[in-house]
Amino acid sequence: MKRVALFGSTGSIGTQAADIIARHPDRLKAAVLACGSDVESLARQIALLGPEMAVVAAESRETGAAVAELAGRFPKTRFLTGQEGLLTAAAQGDYDVMLNAVSGVSGLRPAWAALKSGRSLAMANKETLVAAGELVMAEAARRGLEITPVDSEHSAIFQALRGNEGNRPRKIILTASGGPFRGYNKEMLRTVTPEQALAHPNWSMGRKITVDSATMMNKGLEIIEAARLFGLEADRLETVVHPQSVIHSMVEFEDGAVMAQLGAPDMRAPIAYALSCPERWETGVARLDFRTLGALTFEAPDEEAFPCLRLAREALTMGGGYPTVLNAANEALALMFLEGRIGFTDIQEGVARALDGFKPFALHDVEEVLELDARVKKEVKGSLS
Ligand code: NDP
Ligand code: MG
Repeated sequence: MKRVALFGSTGSIGTQAADIIARHPDRLKAAVLACGSDVESLARQIALLGPEMAVVAAESRETGAAVAELAGRFPKTRFLTGQEGLLTAAAQGDYDVMLNAVSGVSGLRPAWAALKSGRSLAMANKETLVAAGELVMAEAARRGLEITPVDSEHSAIFQALRGNEGNRPRKIILTASGGPFRGYNKEMLRTVTPEQALAHPNWSMGRKITVDSATMMNKGLEIIEAARLFGLEADRLETVVHPQSVIHSMVEFEDGAVMAQLGAPDMRAPIAYALSCPERWETGVARLDFRTLGALTFEAPDEEAFPCLRLAREALTMGGGYPTVLNAANEALALMFLEGRIGFTDIQEGVARALDGFKPFALHDVEEVLELDARVKKEVKGSLS
């Protein structure tokens, strides 16, 4: 029995992870559930999964009253609130692996607390691996803890590498759907709206990552995420647009062989594998039928229209605090775009400006990462309001 702490349980990944846990009551136990503010969804999950601990990270009078009501309804569950509650659960909860599906850099402190208390991570929260990837990977290595990818591309790479241990990949090829604006040029992108950006062709996801997919910053973040998870330099990481999202990514080896992982676009598959590896369990995911699948197509990404890919690669190459700055600026700008305060192409322009204006220095600990993150977000907001 694996005891799971599901952080970000009420989100897109979180609810799909809850589904996987509920399918395998003999193998998985939700020991801790943690959300931001969606107390109603959390209550449904507590009724279904019966965790020993539940956390609501938001701190307001409203959530306080709602949590008090829940505590009366579920006397077997211990309730915690606020950032402090979140970190107490991460550090002291009785669990084996944290599935971190918090969105944004808010996932960093809980991930760090998990590692510091000797727990491994199943990692959906890519922003943490971008903003503080070197620190997080080094801490896990030092303690002999695993960080297993949940992101579908990285799960595909992780699966393709198994059985090929000791063979350094020549190249990793990350596939990208191209998002809702594939084929748009720079001019057309200037006027797109949040509603259009939120209509992703293949995946239903949280709002921030859906905007990232539309700018292709998602793929940029994934390049850095792959570099951290698999210890590879920027020149070994390539992106190809594959609109069908059937091949989830590929690894090319020295002999020219390419290993690919295929499946229906359904996040429950990589979520389950991050918890079941090396075993494979039932997931409820639709089967591929190759007789009706039709063509799988590939094209080079348009870095002219989608410069976020190039910006992410540059941030990775420059290293130090640059990926942290890239992530922070993007997080602030994606949110401002969703709020209707800036246009779509202001995101890429704002990220480029933040990188240009950064006076490089090395980051030695998580607190320094979070300080830089907060400073960049403040500057970005200040410069556009
Ligand atoms: P959502 O926005 O759908 O969910 C985010 C979750 O995090 C919610 O449960 C939310 O709680 C919680 N949360 C937000 N802020 C905090 C906080 N400060 N403390 C604790 N919990 C918080 O995002 P997604 O599920 O789409 O994405 C989660 C992560 O997984 C992201 O890093 C994303 O890049 C990555 N990912 C997502 C994929 C997808 O298909 N969705 C695919 C690959 C990676 P509440 O709702 O209660 O406020
Ligand atoms: Mg992905």
